[in-house]
Amino acid sequence: MQLDESLIRNVVAAVLSEVGPMPAGSNTPLSRHVPPGAGHNGIFTDVNEAVAAARAAHLQLRARSMEDRKKVIDIIRRISIDQCEELGLMEMRETGIGRPEHKIEKLRTLGMLSPGTEFLQTKAFSGDHGLAVIERSPFGVIAAITPVTHSLPTITGNAVSMIAGGNSVVVNPHPSGKKVAAEGVRRFNKAIAAEVGIDNLICVLAEPTLETADALFSHRDVALICVTGGPAVGRAALRSGKRAIVAGPGNPPVVVDETADLDNAARCIIQGAAYDNNLLCIAEKEVFVVESVFDDMMAAMRRAGAVQLDASQIAKLTSQAITQVGDDKHDAAAKDFIGKDAAVLARAAGVNVPESCELVFGETDEHHPFVTVEQMMPFLPFVRARDVGHAIAMAKEYEHGFRHTAIIHSRNVRNMTTMGRELDTTLYVKNGPCMAALGLGGEGYLSFSIAGPTGEGVTSPDTFTRERRCSMVDELRVV
Ligand code: NAD
Repeated sequence: MQLDESLIRNVVAAVLSEVGPMPAGSNTPLSRHVPPGAGHNGIFTDVNEAVAAARAAHLQLRARSMEDRKKVIDIIRRISIDQCEELGLMEMRETGIGRPEHKIEKLRTLGMLSPGTEFLQTKAFSGDHGLAVIERSPFGVIAAITPVTHSLPTITGNAVSMIAGGNSVVVNPHPSGKKVAAEGVRRFNKAIAAEVGIDNLICVLAEPTLETADALFSHRDVALICVTGGPAVGRAALRSGKRAIVAGPGNPPVVVDETADLDNAARCIIQGAAYDNNLLCIAEKEVFVVESVFDDMMAAMRRAGAVQLDASQIAKLTSQAITQVGDDKHDAAAKDFIGKDAAVLARAAGVNVPESCELVFGETDEHHPFVTVEQMMPFLPFVRARDVGHAIAMAKEYEHGFRHTAIIHSRNVRNMTTMGRELDTTLYVKNGPCMAALGLGGEGYLSFSIAGPTGEGVTSPDTFTRERRCSMVDELRVV
């Protein structure tokens, strides 16, 4: 089904006519027969109404059992998995970036693997003075900002983890992914309301703007902020005066040393860098290869199916795909090329490749804009390094201190250790594609909000809880 704005408005209008006008203010007594916003299925155009409804939903959830929380999460999982194709294609049509098969897969995978209530661990201290129990308690209403690169997937992962922690959430989605965000949220809430009896656990602003984001950040009933996006939104969240979890930008470098299995490195680099046309924040963005194996590595990339561009073709692509923005005219990825297919980039370079081609690549120097900029498109620059020390130094420089993600292909444990220490990133993958760091082909768990700047790492239900300690003095130690 194609969702459009008039449909959202109709849903909201129909609901308002049933439940009457929204109560003013955010601290409406919950003794009302109809909680604020009930029947909206999470879709709002007014920040105060959205927060009031989310608050009412949170208080209802708090009064329920853990079993009910699990039921809510299972409903989100079920819809993400069963409807991944329809919703994934809806996201593809609306945003126009990425690859349809990966839009679908992201929803299915997040539905299956986002960590739920099982992640909430209680700790205890037992000693001569009794017993202290440390439990994980919800914050309340969380404000979330989501990126255009994964609109509904980020909402899905955030919702599972936040609700597992006992919270509700109000989302200000990227304007270019607002329709699929609203439709996904509507489906989640509708099913949750029907099966568990709570509406609006996940609220979305149907007309998101920077003003609605600001109003959310400063709302007195918002207890915590979680933003997923580039530098500007991270700065805005940190200025808000509230606790903010910032899943910020990256520019993940790859180092390939002389001991690497080059064919495995090539397969992994293509898998990570080509996924959803390089939209993942963790995706391989530039590769530094030691001189002695540079030409062999380029041959391995060609064997693995990527298409190599020569210097003049790269120059032609760069003139269109990189643009200058801001007062200082700094380089940035051109919007028309972000998340487009490799075949589109190749055509811009004057080369015809089959539509099935996943990645184009080529040699550049280290100062090339495709190295310095987080390009989010499936052209990957390869830079020669004198030796592994030089490669690691360049990787550190062009990661820009985001401390997000870094990757090495090597069999030398010392080199792996040196790079890990030098780059100090939140995610560090050895001999695999970037997604191995999120439990996809490696160990660990999945989330699409990786909080580097504020230090929470790969977000989980624990991230969205407060620690509370209950102390029993001199009793209840039974051993
Ligand atoms: P973006 O920064 O343009 O937008 C992200 C979100 O922030 C959008 O909802 C946007 O409307 C909002 N926003 C932007 N400026 C704002 C401001 N001043 N105040 C309030 N809200 C603001 O990014 P995008 O193109 O949507 O997504 C790609 C970026 O997100 C990349 O930099 C990528 O690395 C990053 N990202 C990071 C993670 C992570 O887990 N760390 C995950 C996905 C994407």
